[in-house]
Amino acid sequence: MCGIVGYIGHREAYPIVIKGLQRLEYRGYDSAGIALYDGNNIKLSKTKGKVSDLKDRLESEISTDGTLGIGHTRWATHGVPNDVNSHPHYSNSGDLVIIHNGIIENYDSLRKELIKRGYTFKSDTDTEVLVNLIEDVKKNEKTKLGKAVQIALNQVVGAYAIAVFDKNKPNEIVVARLGSPLAIGIGDDEFFIASDASPFIEYTKNAIYLEDEEMAIIRRGKDIKIRKIKNDALVDPYIQELQLNLEQIEKGGYDHFMLKEIYEQPDAILDTFRGRLLSNEAMIKLAGVEDNMKKFLAADRIIVVACGTSWHAGLVAEYIFEDLARIPVEVEYASEFRYRNPVITEKDVVIAISQSGETADTLAAIKLAKSKDAFVFGVCNVVGSSIARETDAGAYTHAGPEIGVASTKAFTTQITVLTLMALRLARAKGTISSSEFRHHLIELETIPSKVEEALKSDTYVQTIADIYKDATNFLYLGRGFNFPVALEGALKLKEISYIHAEGYPAAEMKHGPIALIDENMPIVVIATKKGHYEKVVSNIQEIKSRKGKIIGIVTKGDKSVKDLADHVIEVPETIECLTPLLTTIPLQLLSYHIAVMLEKNVDQPRNLAKSVTVE
Ligand code: GLU
Repeated sequence: MCGIVGYIGHREAYPIVIKGLQRLEYRGYDSAGIALYDGNNIKLSKTKGKVSDLKDRLESEISTDGTLGIGHTRWATHGVPNDVNSHPHYSNSGDLVIIHNGIIENYDSLRKELIKRGYTFKSDTDTEVLVNLIEDVKKNEKTKLGKAVQIALNQVVGAYAIAVFDKNKPNEIVVARLGSPLAIGIGDDEFFIASDASPFIEYTKNAIYLEDEEMAIIRRGKDIKIRKIKNDALVDPYIQELQLNLEQIEKGGYDHFMLKEIYEQPDAILDTFRGRLLSNEAMIKLAGVEDNMKKFLAADRIIVVACGTSWHAGLVAEYIFEDLARIPVEVEYASEFRYRNPVITEKDVVIAISQSGETADTLAAIKLAKSKDAFVFGVCNVVGSSIARETDAGAYTHAGPEIGVASTKAFTTQITVLTLMALRLARAKGTISSSEFRHHLIELETIPSKVEEALKSDTYVQTIADIYKDATNFLYLGRGFNFPVALEGALKLKEISYIHAEGYPAAEMKHGPIALIDENMPIVVIATKKGHYEKVVSNIQEIKSRKGKIIGIVTKGDKSVKDLADHVIEVPETIECLTPLLTTIPLQLLSYHIAVMLEKNVDQPRNLAKSVTVE
C-alpha cells in the first residue's frame, strides 16, 4: 500500500503533487519521490523518509517547474526503504518513468527474462521490472505507450495502480488499476490522478474511480479514454460528484482509521496470500521458509517471542503449528524471555512477531536468541524494520500501514502468515496428507470473502455495544484455537474503551472467574461449531445459571447457543484452525463501537503508542 499522485494540465504540477503526497502519507511513509516534466526533460528526485524530507531535498536538487508530474509515497513490499528503491522508477532507456502501488507477484520470472534480454536493474523493486517490461513491449511491438502498457499488464500477475509517462510524448499519462485504488479528477482542461480523491478535492469535485482491470489514457487538454486491459473494449467513463470532505477521504469515508483497518482485512489477508498461496498448484511459497527448510525440519521446538496483540497471534500459531506440523511450540512474552535466562540452543527456531518490527523487548529477545545460536525468523509488517534486519530470515505480513493504535489487520495477517508457515512445514514433514493440505489451501483462499461476510454483523454488533457500553467489566471466553482470540477481544476492549476485561479459556472459568458472574456481567463466549463446541455449550449453561449476560460468537445457523444466549453473532463456517480469522472480527467491532459510544479517542487511546520502542 502506498500513495500515488499525478497531474497533467496548465498549472504548475509540483505544488499539487507534493501537497497530494502529504495527504496520502497515511498510506505509507517509507520514502517518497516526484518526477516532473518541464517541457524538455524529466526531473526526478526521491529519498528515503517522509514527504517533508523529499520536499527539503527536491527543492534544493531540481527546479520545480513543469505542468506534468507524478509522485509516490512508499510503503515498501519489495526491497528495503532506501533512496534507490523509492519511486518513481525509470526504464533502462530513461524514456519512461513509473509510479506503482501494489505487488507484481511474478516479478522474479519477468526480471530474469528481462535480464536475459540485456536489461539491468538498479533497485530491488518489482516496480522497476514492470517499467522495463513496458519498455521492452513498446520497442518490440513498435506500439504507443498505451498499447505497450496494456500488453505488459496482460503478462503481469498481482496488484497494481500505476501511472506512467514517456518523455518523448509528454502530453499523456497512462494509468491502470487492478486491486489497488485509483481516482482521476476531471478539471477544466486538466486531470489529476491519485490513490484517493484527497489530493485534488480543492480543484475539482468530479472524479472517475477506475475499476479493476481498467486502464486510462489521459491526454493534456483533451479527453480521457478508458479501456479494459484484457480485451481492449472501450468503457464509458462514469463521472461521480464527490460529497466527502478531506478528512473523510483520507479515512476512506470511515470515522476512524481503526474502523477502516477492520474493513480492510479482506484485502489485507488477500495481500498476505499474494504469490504465496498457490492453490491450483497445491503449493505454498514462502522464500524465508523455503531457504531455511533444513533449520525448520531439524528444530526441536519453536519459541515464539512477541508482545501484546502479536503475542496473541503467537498463541494462535502455537495451536496451529502443533496441530498441523507436530512441532512443539512455546510462546513467550518477549519482555519476560529476555530477562529470565531461558534455555535456548542452536536446535531452536525462534519466531519473532511484531507489526512495526521495532518493538524494543522483541528486538532484545531476538538478540538473546541469536547469541545462543538459535535460528531467528521474523514476522513483521514494516519492510526493512529493525526486526526484519536483525533476524536470519522472515516473512512480511503485507497488511499495509496500520495507523490505529489498536491492532486489527496486523493481527489477522500475522495469523495468516503463520498459518501458511505451519501448512508448508506440515507438508514438508508429512504430518498432513496431500488432500488435507489442498483442502486447507482452498479453504484459506475463501477466508477474505468470509471475513467480508463476518463484517456484515456490524449493525447488530452496534446494537449489542449500545446495551453493554456502561458495563464496568467484561469476560471473554474461548477454547482451543479461539482461546487466544478471547484474550485478544478482551485486550481490544481494554485498550480503547478503558473497560476492564479478562480473557479466559472457557473451562478455566470454574476455577475462579465464575465468582465474578452476576446479572451485571457481560460475557462474550466464542462457541463456533467443531472443536470443543459441546463443552463450550456446557460452559454457557454454567454462566446462564448464574444470570450472566451471554454474547455468543457462533457459526452461521447455530441453534443450541441461540437458545441459551442473550445475543448471538454469526460468523461463516470454516475449518477449525482458521476460525480465529473470523471470530476476531465481531470482537474488534464490539470494542470499536463501545469506545465510540463512550466518546473515547479510538485511534489514539490514552497512554499507548503504535510502536513500542521502549522496554
Ligand atoms: N511493490 C512496490 C514497492 O515495494 C510498491 C509498494 C506499495 O504499494 O507500497 O516498491
